[in-house]
Amino acid sequence: MSYVSHLECAKCGKHYHSEEVRQLCPECSGPLVVRYDLEAVKENFHKEDLKDREPSLWRYWELLPLKDRKNLVSLGEGMTPMIKMEKAGPAIGLNNLYLKDEGIIPSGTFKSRGATVGVSRAKELGIKTLAMPTNGNAGASWSTYGARAGIKSVIVMPQDAPEITRNECAITGADLYLVDGLISDAGKIVARAVQKYGWFDVSTLKEPYRIEGKKTMGLEIVEQFNWEVPDVILYPTGGGVGIIGIYKALKELQAIGWIGEKMPRLVAVQAEGCAPIVKAWQEGKKESEFWNNAYTCAFGITVPKALGDFLVLDAIYKTNGCAIAIGDEDLLKAQAVLAAQEGAFVCPEGASLYTAAQKLREQGWIKEDEKVVLLNTGTGLKYPETVKVNVPLLQPNDDIPEA
Ligand SMILES: *Cc1c(COP(=O)(O)O)cnc(C)c1O
Ligand SMILES: [Zn+2]
Repeated sequence: MSYVSHLECAKCGKHYHSEEVRQLCPECSGPLVVRYDLEAVKENFHKEDLKDREPSLWRYWELLPLKDRKNLVSLGEGMTPMIKMEKAGPAIGLNNLYLKDEGIIPSGTFKSRGATVGVSRAKELGIKTLAMPTNGNAGASWSTYGARAGIKSVIVMPQDAPEITRNECAITGADLYLVDGLISDAGKIVARAVQKYGWFDVSTLKEPYRIEGKKTMGLEIVEQFNWEVPDVILYPTGGGVGIIGIYKALKELQAIGWIGEKMPRLVAVQAEGCAPIVKAWQEGKKESEFWNNAYTCAFGITVPKALGDFLVLDAIYKTNGCAIAIGDEDLLKAQAVLAAQEGAFVCPEGASLYTAAQKLREQGWIKEDEKVVLLNTGTGLKYPETVKVNVPLLQPNDDIPEA
């Protein structure tokens, strides 16, 4: 059984039955989110229950939407390490800087959190074919979990998306298409195909369950800090599902009495070459505008206009957070610093957070002793082209100089 009570439109508030296959709100085209009977969860789910459970995101079963364990599609994801940045923190004036590292999840990014929950629920609802536009990582994850579930995946990604993600989609059996354009173009192509063939559209926020997987990052962060929330969480924001999910998790934890009133300040970090949320936040707006000519090497956050922008901005405003944009050159430097000082080979998206933390510290927005979490969304291994190396080639009789 699950504790799901209904689906709710995040825009107009209309309720829908959770056993119907749903995409956007038929009334207003807003995204639907999952609501739980949190009173019942509060009564039946206790922190101590977690002691004997597997170190995977499925440990939070009562706050997840799956009804029957037989539909679970899992490759062992979640409970990623929370690593203290002992050198890289103090180097930028932060004594309590942590990196939550999603790079060890199957397929190498946090996208697999959304996929394990989204695909499991799709299986439970009897979905046969799913379709999605992606900047690469989500397609790789959903295709991977789709393979395990026996669900067909149709994936459309920009031809500039990280090459490895193509290979992941191909080898796991997806029907893969490249588009000469951006994720927004891929989205339009998928929308037409879904209309025509009746596939399940799993675009960001066009189905309700992906966000439930991503919210487990919020649950884990708080559990890892022994049910105390940190002061600041920085998140590399594209479609924004991660930040929306973390905020949702915190609200649900408050509702079941596991945490108090205090909320971490949520920070949306974007790339200077694609910063619609930052612009909207600077102008005090509730929604973002389409960002023209988007470009950044942090490919996962190249989203010119997010469907859930209003939810991201709401989470920032409600938690007294902020939004900040980082240049590609700076984030690549940060990637090198984290790798060399901490052994953390993070993705470019994740690296942007370190520069953001440094800037916010310099501005005094973050205080020296505040507990700060950088949510690294994926491994640097997926972006081999961002690292430029110049390696000497030896002949068998050459000697190496002293180290
Ligand atoms: C998708 C992605 C993001 C952005 O995630 P959202 O939750 O959609 O904002 C960040 N980093 C990486 C590596 C990604 O793949
Ligand atoms: Zn609606």
